[in-house]
Amino acid sequence: MDADVIIAGAGPTGLMLAAELRLAGADVLILELLPEPTGQSRALGINPRAVELLDARGLMGRFADQHTITNSHYGALHRPLDFSRLDTAHGVMMVPQRRTEKELGEWARGLGARILHGHTVVGLTQYADRVEVEADTSEGTRTFTARYVVGADGSRSSVRQLSGIGYPGVPSTVDALMCDVSGLDLAFKFFERNDRGLWAVFPVGDGVFRVVVYAFDRPPVRGADAPSFEEVNDAARTIAGIDLTGGTPHWLSRHGNTTRIADRFRAERVFLAGDAAHVVPPAGGQLLTTGLHDATNLGWKLGAAVAGWGSDDLLDSYQDERYPVAERIILNARVQNLLMSGGLDIAALRELFTELVEFDEVNFYLSGQLSAVSVRYDVGGDHPMLGLGLPHRTLETDAGEVTTTELLRSARGLLLEVGDAPGFADLVAPYADRVDVRVARVPAGSPGFDGVTAVLVRPDTHVAWVAETPAGADAADADRDALGTALRRWFGAPADTNSGAESGTESGTQTAAPVGAGTAGGTP
Ligand SMILES: Cc1cc2nc3c(=O)[nH]c(=O)nc-3n(C[C@H](O)[C@H](O)[C@H](O)COP(=O)(O)OP(=O)(O)OC[C@H]3O[C@@H](n4cnc5c(N)ncnc54)[C@H](O)[C@@H]3O)c2cc1C
Repeated sequence: MDADVIIAGAGPTGLMLAAELRLAGADVLILELLPEPTGQSRALGINPRAVELLDARGLMGRFADQHTITNSHYGALHRPLDFSRLDTAHGVMMVPQRRTEKELGEWARGLGARILHGHTVVGLTQYADRVEVEADTSEGTRTFTARYVVGADGSRSSVRQLSGIGYPGVPSTVDALMCDVSGLDLAFKFFERNDRGLWAVFPVGDGVFRVVVYAFDRPPVRGADAPSFEEVNDAARTIAGIDLTGGTPHWLSRHGNTTRIADRFRAERVFLAGDAAHVVPPAGGQLLTTGLHDATNLGWKLGAAVAGWGSDDLLDSYQDERYPVAERIILNARVQNLLMSGGLDIAALRELFTELVEFDEVNFYLSGQLSAVSVRYDVGGDHPMLGLGLPHRTLETDAGEVTTTELLRSARGLLLEVGDAPGFADLVAPYADRVDVRVARVPAGSPGFDGVTAVLVRPDTHVAWVAETPAGADAADADRDALGTALRRWFGAPADTNSGAESGTESGTQTAAPVGAGTAGGTP
């Protein structure tokens, strides 16, 4: 085998996944089509839930010079969503995508991930125990073998096509022109509109402005190249009355408003993550965040399978958990597409939606979804904390203060005992190779922790089990049973009784017959 896991694509999703896999002990190889990073920055912001994940891995120091905002828009409405009321320590981190990729790339490499640039995945064959990947390189086609393959190769994913996974959705209805331009003193415009179209102008640093403009009556041109500067300037002048003449363009691009989701996120030993699995338009800034969230959900599960304790059910839980999240993102994107289109009916809808977003509860509800802070997996049980990301709180220990976020650095499971009478550590002892135990005190009044005595947290920072044992009492049998069930569900059989999970060694019988194969159908 060339690696435990091969990832196609060194975008933000692939890089985050590579690091998560390394933290889980898997050997990782990324194959990336581009000879070197583009230096372009499609995304300019990362939403709060993904910033929480970066923080959980101790990466915030790398982004210390970036600024944060605490609101976002919904469908370009001028009444913003207020993220400051959410239960999160973070806002939207304004960071150019090239910087995100640079930092994630350095982190992943530092952890031991290998990245081969100039390697385009063009073929994929699945066997019972491995996957063979063909990659075009400047020196001809090379074949690599791994136990699992992840397609993090963007919306035109070759891995998805080679695996025969469909990508249905709604085709684009707009042709949005975009330009990063310097040398002009432009005024900030937040999604202005008139009867001709919609536009925005915002500074992206170093004297550069990003201009986005589209006409309501201009359909997308299939397969069109990036626009010329003249084309963007022409649209900016006729739709928005903004003259870009004399400016220096740095990046020209066009994008539509298509929304698509893959039929499935798993085909045997092949998984899809990030834009390869789902795509929505840039407005709302949800997509990069979703890719990073996919990566943290999948990384530890694949790592567990490689280590020998992760079952097939655990691998299936990636799709079970992430598919509904992607469906909700697509639903929100389609609503926003409508709000961002033209016509008197839409103007009326926007007016009503603006009034609705004034209501705190509506604002809070939509903020939770767009920020991804409200993403909750179905882990069973009804405690409000279950399935959500572990909330950021300051805890007290005999050695001083520690935050819940700091306890997540290792990307292992965590049993956090915060009750007067810790009573669960013995159950976790057989899982010492994959679950840490920490004992701490929660200061009185910490929201959400009232009555909580212990919490089991998965490596992706989501809460899997909560106990509320009365003060002074021994851990109840029911709580101990529930913890045992949660441990087996998320962390497999205890170390000395592993069975049923795939062997972590390379000595398994090699099966010759492919169970699925393909070659690239067109230019990736
Ligand atoms: C104009 C614009 C603005 C945006 N703004 C935001 C924003 O503010 N916030 C936000 O969250 N999102 C935003 N997005 C979306 C965001 O850029 C994407 O969601 C993000 O890049 C997806 O990351 P990814 O790693 O899944 O895929 P990608 O970034 O597309 O990376 C895929 C990688 O795979 C490589 N690849 C492709 N095919 C192959 C192959 N066959 N073999 C090997 N490698 C291959 C590609 O070269 C690429 O490096 C924006 C998008 C656009 C277009």
